[in-house]
Amino acid sequence: MFVVLCSAGRYSVDDAIEDTNCNGIAGRDPNTGETYESLWCKDSESMGTVILGDSAAAHFHIPPQWFTSKEMSVEAFKNLFFAIENELDWPMLSSATGYKNSTWPASITGPVDSMYLRLREINRCNHRDYQSISVNGARASAMAHELVKGFARRGMTDKPVFLTLALIGNDVCNGHHGISHMTTPEEFYNSTLETLRYVDSIVAPGSVVIGVGLVDGRVLFDTLHNQIHPVGSYRNDVTYAQMYDYLNCLEISPCFGWLNSNETWRNRTTERAFQLNDAFKSLVAKESFKNFKAYYMEPAIKEMFRRWIAGGGNASELIEPVDGFHPSQIGQAITTAVSFEVLAKMGVLPPTNPFNDEIAKKFGDQGDY
Ligand code: CA
Repeated sequence: MFVVLCSAGRYSVDDAIEDTNCNGIAGRDPNTGETYESLWCKDSESMGTVILGDSAAAHFHIPPQWFTSKEMSVEAFKNLFFAIENELDWPMLSSATGYKNSTWPASITGPVDSMYLRLREINRCNHRDYQSISVNGARASAMAHELVKGFARRGMTDKPVFLTLALIGNDVCNGHHGISHMTTPEEFYNSTLETLRYVDSIVAPGSVVIGVGLVDGRVLFDTLHNQIHPVGSYRNDVTYAQMYDYLNCLEISPCFGWLNSNETWRNRTTERAFQLNDAFKSLVAKESFKNFKAYYMEPAIKEMFRRWIAGGGNASELIEPVDGFHPSQIGQAITTAVSFEVLAKMGVLPPTNPFNDEIAKKFGDQGDY
């Protein structure tokens, strides 16, 4: 069997015979003799979508059926091995790089919308050009020292990228008690700068970097504290507040500061998160980069809640039911919609490819995924 190897994101390809950059566009226009890549993609400002993120970006999700005795069945554990192998992350349904339809797996329901799908809609030449470097528990220092090295791009031969750096909580969130395990503004500034310098060394000129700030996680406790956690669903007896304190007692909470019945700790954690955001804003204002322009963007969480509630939704539907911490499928999709509107207003989105309809007509789903 003859296998064609392709490399997503490759720029300036001919693709007269093979689709070497995986976007489902190849061949030659019989009328002009030019390749379709040259006619429809070459000058279209095509870009790859990249997310450097944490478990929220990777879409951490534990199927609630694993914890609710009423729903326990062989069916409920169908995706167990897949889920554990992937560290309970579902990036293929996430706000950053989601592309699959959400009837899979059965425990995740709701719309799929993502930065990748939006950028693909703007320009079909972007098909299949996405990377998610999102790791559970990632904070600024781990991103700088280790994780960002997993981002693969070659500025000499590849297209520019539209990269989002979103570490929205772990620098103030972990299982340790107190403030000493939270990142300081100075550490945050230096680590983030190190990450961005590395990005600058491997991306093509004309790239865009969006730095997303940390969320105000107080909304989690405010929304869920007196509701029943899935483990208590049978007897109706365990609230989220009790669950959060229980996890803190064992020092295994994903976030001592925000998932805490003590309001002082919740406020102090937010205070530190806002200090880190100030450091991020000052970095973007002060530093310059060779191959991209960097922008700061507030996280979408506040507007996400406002919009869902204004539309008659229940705030708890935006949060993952088992961990009471991560955005749900609905939350992920609304995050995309809100962020995209903000980015459009900021004027940082690439232009629409005028040949999209012709690409769709000629290449259909472009080979799907
Ligand atoms: Ca191609």
